[in-house]
Amino acid sequence: MIRKSFFGLATPRLEYTLLTGELSEPQSIPPPETATLLIEAPFDTQDAAGIKPGDAVKRGQKLTLSEAGEASVIASVSGSVQSVAPHIGDFGRIFTAVTIGVNGTGEIDDQFAEQSKLPALDTALDYLVSVPGAPPLKKFKTPEVPIDTIVIYGGDTDLLVTTNQFVIKSRLDEVKAGIVFLKQITGVERIIIAVPGEIIQGYGHIGAEMKRVAAEYPAALPPMIMKDVLKRVVPAGQTPEDLGVTFITAEAVAAIGTAFKTGTCPVSKLITVVDKSGDCKLVSAVIGTPIVNVLRALGITLADRDRLIIGGPMTGSAIYSEDFPVTPDTGAIMVQDKDDIPYVSDYPCINCGDCIRICPVAIPVNMLVRFLEAGHYEDAADQYDLYSCIECGLCSFVCVSKIPIFQYIRLAKFELGRTRAAEAAND
Ligand code: SF4
Ligand code: SF4
Repeated sequence: MIRKSFFGLATPRLEYTLLTGELSEPQSIPPPETATLLIEAPFDTQDAAGIKPGDAVKRGQKLTLSEAGEASVIASVSGSVQSVAPHIGDFGRIFTAVTIGVNGTGEIDDQFAEQSKLPALDTALDYLVSVPGAPPLKKFKTPEVPIDTIVIYGGDTDLLVTTNQFVIKSRLDEVKAGIVFLKQITGVERIIIAVPGEIIQGYGHIGAEMKRVAAEYPAALPPMIMKDVLKRVVPAGQTPEDLGVTFITAEAVAAIGTAFKTGTCPVSKLITVVDKSGDCKLVSAVIGTPIVNVLRALGITLADRDRLIIGGPMTGSAIYSEDFPVTPDTGAIMVQDKDDIPYVSDYPCINCGDCIRICPVAIPVNMLVRFLEAGHYEDAADQYDLYSCIECGLCSFVCVSKIPIFQYIRLAKFELGRTRAAEAAND
C-alpha cells in the first residue's frame, strides 16, 4: 500500500520563522455568505431550548445546544440558522455544526457588553472560550492543582507559522490589556511571555516576564518551554497544568483584552496560510468562514489529490474537505500540491536509529513504532514511553522508511484516552 507524508516541496526548515522589520497588516478575507460554528458536543444532546434552524442570531450571541447551556459557541456573524447537524472532527472527535446564513447587518448581541463591565471568570467562560486563539479558560475553573503561572506563547509551536509572533509584535495594547484582565479574572500573578528570537520591550511595567525561547524547532512546544525556560520537567503522562502552569496564545490574550475593553467579542481569526510553493501569508478571516473562501481570496486552487492541512508542517492534520470552517484555534492552513508530496511506503523499520537520535526526549522510537503498528497501545505506553512523547513529529520527519510514526503516536494516545475515559465513566 502506498501512503504519503505531509512533507513535500514545503519541507520545513528546522528553525522557526522570525518576523523582522516593519510588519504589514494581514489580508482581510471577505465576510462569508454562510459561517459554520462547531460546538464540542454530540448532536443528540440538543433539546427543545437549544439553537435550531430558522432562529435569528446576532454577532456575539451565545448559542447553546440545550437548556443546560454547557455546550455552546459564540456567533461570529449575524443572520439566521440554516442547519444544526452532526460533525466529525479528526480522530473521530464529535461536534455539532451550526451553519448560519449571514444577513450582513452585523447586528451585535448586547448581553456580553453588560456582563463585561465587571470582568469575572464566569463571564469569560460564558463568552470568551471561542474567541480567536481559543483561550483555555476552563483550566482555571476548579483545577486539581491551583494554577500559579500563565505562559503566553509569543511565538508559534510549528514551523513556518507566524500568527502569534505577529500578535505579540503588533498588538501590544491589546495583549497588555489582556494580561491585566487575565490576572484579574484568574487571580494568577505570574505571567511569562515566551518569544522566539529577540526579546520585545514594552511589557515589563505590567508585571509580565519576557523570556527568550531558542529559534530552533521544537523549542516552542510547551514541554520544551517548561524544561528550558521554567526549569521544570513535565513527567510522562502529565501536563503543565499538573505542575500549576497553563499555556495560552498571544492571540487569545489579545482577544480577551479587546473583549473586556470594548464589550464585544472579537470574531476574526489570524491565520498563516502556506501555499503550494511554501510561501506564507498572514490573513484575517471571520471564524466559521469556509476554508475554500480563504484559498480563493489568495488565488489558491485545489486540484484532485492535493493535500489540505490544518496547522503547520510538523504537527498539522490533513482534512478531507475545503468546506471545513475556520475555527478559533486554526493557526495555520497549509496546501500541498499532489506532485510535491513524496510517496512513502509501508516498508518496515530498518533500525537505522535516526528517530532515536533526533527525539528530544530520548524515546526508543524504533521499538515504540513496532507496538504502535500492531495496535498494542497499552504495551507502547507501559514499556516504550508513549506518554513521554511531546508530539514534535521529528521522528516521522527523519524516518528513512517513511513510517508515519507521529500519526501512529497521536492515534494511540487518542485511543488510550478514549478507553480510559470510558472505563472511568463505568466505575
Ligand atoms: S514525536 Fe517522535 S521525535 Fe518527537 S517526542 Fe515523540 S517520539 Fe520523540
Ligand atoms: S527512523 Fe524509521 S527506519 Fe529508522 S529506526 Fe526509526 S522507525 Fe526505524
